[in-house]
Amino acid sequence: MREFDIKGWCPGALRPMRSGDGWVVRVRPRLARLTRAQALGLCDMAQAYGAGLIDLTNRANVQIRGVSDAALAPLQQALAALDLLDDNPGLEARRNILIAPDWAQQDDSSRLWLDLANRLADLPDLPPKTGFAMDAGPAPVLSQDPADFRIERGLQGLILRAEGHARGMALEQGREIEGLIRLCRWFAQTGGAQSGRMARHRAPLPGWAIWDAAPLPARAPLGAGISPVGLTLGAAFGQIVARDLAQVVAATDAPAIRVTPWRCVVLEGLTAAPALPASLTATAHHPALRVDACAGAPFCPQASVETRAFAGQLAPLVSGSLHVSGCAKGCARARAADVTVTGRDGRFDLVVQGRTEATGLTPPQILTRFER
Ligand code: SF4
Repeated sequence: MREFDIKGWCPGALRPMRSGDGWVVRVRPRLARLTRAQALGLCDMAQAYGAGLIDLTNRANVQIRGVSDAALAPLQQALAALDLLDDNPGLEARRNILIAPDWAQQDDSSRLWLDLANRLADLPDLPPKTGFAMDAGPAPVLSQDPADFRIERGLQGLILRAEGHARGMALEQGREIEGLIRLCRWFAQTGGAQSGRMARHRAPLPGWAIWDAAPLPARAPLGAGISPVGLTLGAAFGQIVARDLAQVVAATDAPAIRVTPWRCVVLEGLTAAPALPASLTATAHHPALRVDACAGAPFCPQASVETRAFAGQLAPLVSGSLHVSGCAKGCARARAADVTVTGRDGRFDLVVQGRTEATGLTPPQILTRFER
């Protein structure tokens, strides 16, 4: 039996989600980019209306937690003033589009992101969590990140690939989004609503295309540190102290920040790291960036266990990646981790390298296992 409640939708800013510590208000920055004014404004809002923290999600969104009933409307007004709200909750929910974080002005990834954002009304009714990836850089970089339909670079040009299938169809230059909308219509007409996600959809791919185009081998995600895009910064659990981010942005001339699905932010154009507060790191492979932990108890009503303090205790004992999840939903991390501990009925199940090693463990039992 499932141990967690599937909401079936993701929170937004117009349709926030109630959590254990108030409303969760999720903002979906266009092109996963916040201008300097938007970034500084969001930091102010997180302090004025929320708990002072900004969560980075694995769909490259940002969310403010701990918003009270009284603060919700003023927060939404402040977001609208910074052009961070969609026209209506329906469009907001559909605008679930990842983009390769190293996109450039007018390159294929940004062109396709904007084309799709302008055509959302042409999509059929799709399951609420349906997501898209515009991954059209020199090679795919979002392959491990959540999406149902992807536009990627193949050997001969751009391809459209449905999640769960190794190969996609070649796309005609300039008509890529037409192809994507057609595939979404096929998904809807063949029972996509019942499947929920493309990866679970068992219908054979439509016969109006040839599904033989493989994506190029994937590139490595941007790590913390300097890259051609700018300075990538990470924070423990992808949770940024808003005051600290505001301080760093204000101390630099970065014109914007980008949000990555790897729970980091990139300060555009920076070629050196300024002095950083302790909560932020520009160090590649920093131990804090190996660990994912969701909000857990008491913040998430689905959780029966505390997660982040425990993750802090466990992380130094684990080599490789660690995922501490409050329940089996696994919100904090889409990719498999070397070690995963998952809360259930007040205890944890332990999975190491994909194999369930033990169930029903207490935190001291898990710490002892890794201290050995
Ligand atoms: S994984 Fe964590 S945040 Fe997600 S529903 Fe479960 S307890 Fe809540």
